[in-house]
Formats: sequence, C-alpha cells, structure tokens
Amino acid sequence: MSDERIARYCEAVEALRQGRFDLEIRGGEGDEIGRLGAALAELAAALERRSERSAILTRVTQRINEGLVLEDVLNLVYDSFFSLIPYDRIGLALLEGGGTVVRARWARSEATEIRLALGYAAPLAGSSLEEVLRTGRPRILNDLEAYLAAHPRSESTRLVVAEGMRASLTCPLVVKGEPAGFLFFSSTRPGIYTEIHQQLFMQLAGQLAMILEKGRLYQELLRLNERLQETMDSLERLATRDSLTGLWNRRSILELLQRELARSRRERRPLAAFMLDIDHFKEVNDRIGHLAGDEVLSEVTRRVGSTLRAADVFGRLGGEEFLVILSPGDTQTAIEVMERARLACRSSPIEAGGQGLAVTISLGATVVGPDRGGDPAELLRAADRALYRAKEGGRDRSELEVLA
Ligand code: GH3
Ligand code: MG
Ligand code: MG
Repeated sequence: MSDERIARYCEAVEALRQGRFDLEIRGGEGDEIGRLGAALAELAAALERRSERSAILTRVTQRINEGLVLEDVLNLVYDSFFSLIPYDRIGLALLEGGGTVVRARWARSEATEIRLALGYAAPLAGSSLEEVLRTGRPRILNDLEAYLAAHPRSESTRLVVAEGMRASLTCPLVVKGEPAGFLFFSSTRPGIYTEIHQQLFMQLAGQLAMILEKGRLYQELLRLNERLQETMDSLERLATRDSLTGLWNRRSILELLQRELARSRRERRPLAAFMLDIDHFKEVNDRIGHLAGDEVLSEVTRRVGSTLRAADVFGRLGGEEFLVILSPGDTQTAIEVMERARLACRSSPIEAGGQGLAVTISLGATVVGPDRGGDPAELLRAADRALYRAKEGGRDRSELEVLA
C-alpha cells in the first residue's frame, strides 16, 4: 500500500526542478516519510535562497556592465544584499601605499550620522585587520562594546560604536590574488552574525572583488578623462594666451573685439578700446638686453592690469603694443582708465636687469557709439591714429578719437 504523501513529494521535486520554490509540504509528521518531507522543505528553502542570491548577483553584475562608478556599485550592494547578510551599515576601506595603509573610502548607514569619516586612514601593521587578511576569512565581532572595552585604542571601533553599531562582520577583499581592502557589515543588533554569513560572504567574495575592480577601473577611466580635459584646457590656453604675459594673444584679442562690438550693438551700449605702447622701448632692449626688456613687458602688463576691472579685456597685439577693451565704455571711462594705466606705469621705476628704469607708456583710444556699428579693423585704425598723435605730442600721454 502506498502513502499518498509520496505522490505529493514527487510533484514537489518536479516543481523544484522547474525552479518553483513555493511548495506545499507539511513537515512535522514523525514517521520516516514525514522526515523526508521536512528534508525536502528545507532543500526547497535553501534552493530558493541560492537562486535569489544568484539573481541579485546577476542584477548587480548587469548594472556594473552598464558602466557604473564605484560609488554606484556600492550603493547597489547596499540595496541588494540585505536579504543575504543583515546590516544597518556597510563600509568599504581600501588598501593604499603598497598595502601599508587602510583608508575608509565609502560608507552608508541607516544611522543618522556617519562618524567614521571617509578618508579616515590607519596603518595596517599591528591592526586586527592584518589578521583578517592573513586568514582570508571574514571575522565576526558580535559584541563591539566588549571588543572596544578590550581594545580601547581601536579608534575605528569607537566611532562605529558611537554610530550605534553593536556587531560587525569584517570581510577581506582580494582582487587578482592581492589583498585590496575590506567590506565591513555592521548591525545595531549584537550577536547577529553567524557562520552562515561568513560562508555566504566567502561565496560572494569572488564576484564582489570583480565588481569592485570594475568599479575601480571605471573610476580610473574617469580620472584619465579628467586629465585629458586638463590637457585640453592647457592646450587651449597655449593657443589663446600670450606666453610671456599671460594676456590674450593677438588672435584672441581680435576675436574678442569682434564679439564685444557685436554685443555692444545688440545691447545698444557704447564700446571703448585703447591701444597702449611702451615709450622708447627699443632703448631698453638695446641698452640692457632683451631679457630686461621682457621683464619690463611683464611689469607693465601687471601694472596696467591692476587698474582694470574684471570685465575689461586685456590682450597683447604684439611686441610692446597692447589692446584694452572696455565694454561697455564711453569717452569719460576711456579717459579715466587710460589715465590710471599711464600713472601706474610711471609711478615708480621698474626693476629690470638689475636697474630701476623710468618707464612710460602712450595710449590711444577710440569710442564707438551704440548706433554706429563698425568693424574691428576700422576701430583699430582709429585707436592707432590716436596713439600716433600721443607719440607725436610728446609721449607719456593719451589721445582719443571718437567714431561718430
Ligand atoms: P616708441 O616710443 O615710438 O614706441 O619707441 P619704441 O622704441 O618703443 O618703438 P619701436 O616700435 O621702434 O620698438 C619696439 C621694440 O620692441 C622693438 C623690438 O625689439 C621690441 N620688442 C618687441 N617684442 C618684444 C619682446 O617680446 N621682448 C622684448 N624684450 N622686446 C620686444
Ligand atoms: Mg614703443
Ligand atoms: Mg611699438
């Protein structure tokens, strides 16, 4: 005579084979067939957990392949692993300095405040973490307060206890056969971690290490990208700036002049621009040398620059000739700014080639009304004519030509 339970168990095994875990198997019946049922129910539960675990890992791995940064990877771990290992906080620390220093790199917690701050670093040597790395096995501390009492100098324990954590599972991370750091699971409930969690972590460790490595590689990529951006910025600087003075170079200042002219027309505001030229500069070069000449150029740039507002545009047209754009700027402003620049240059001798030189500049401005328009070349010609008059008129002075 057959037991009707056998037929139900057969159905249950078939269901398991097909990946369904929600079985109706009653245990608790004391005979041998009843015990078989209880064992089946346990198997079903274990298989369900395993399948859930691999589903989580698959999900996480998929997301990694979408190109997440380490931060996102860890957030995913935080959000997904709860059904595997209990925690109220997860922290990540990575080894640095050839494996001599452990530095906290990431943490997330249900507690309101993270006290063990990111960036916190401690030497590995002599710490209990060294032992965790040596054994390669997760370490359980199920009573952090007792541990702290026994190890009062453990700063990191003091901080997580202050965050409210009472138990911890410290898991070593190994990437490509090398120790890489630690993942710290902590819980507010003392005594919560068991050997099962240790084993679970051991099963996950390989994939986790890979995931972290990927995350790290991605960050590396981001860093490279940043460096590329910096290189591009410095190339841009090289292309647009004058190397001696750091001012806009000729090409850029002429482009800016064009742009500012268009803007003044659009906004119906006047624009002023002036050229300035160092007086008798050739003599400096001839008497004291080209290097001293360069020093004078730099100092004149600095002095004139200090009299301008941030919005004014200052560039080097070439040689010892410069252009300043005041946008907006009217006759009155142009005269005032030129006077300030002129006085700044002659205010005290300029040190160059071991001598104090009396340096003066001549300036020529032009002002374009908002309705007039005009092209940059015409504006430059007018400023140049004014500058010529300043030179003819005795130098160390300014002239102005209004384009009406
Ligand atoms: P002026 O008062 O009429 O302007 O007389 P100047 O001697 O300043 O005029 P000129 O245009 O005859 O001379 C400009 C000199 O500037 C000639 C050139 O050797 C020098 N110069 C041009 N660029 C540089 C540079 O980058 N460094 C140095 N040291 N000298 C330069
Ligand atoms: Mg000159
Ligand atoms: Mg000149």
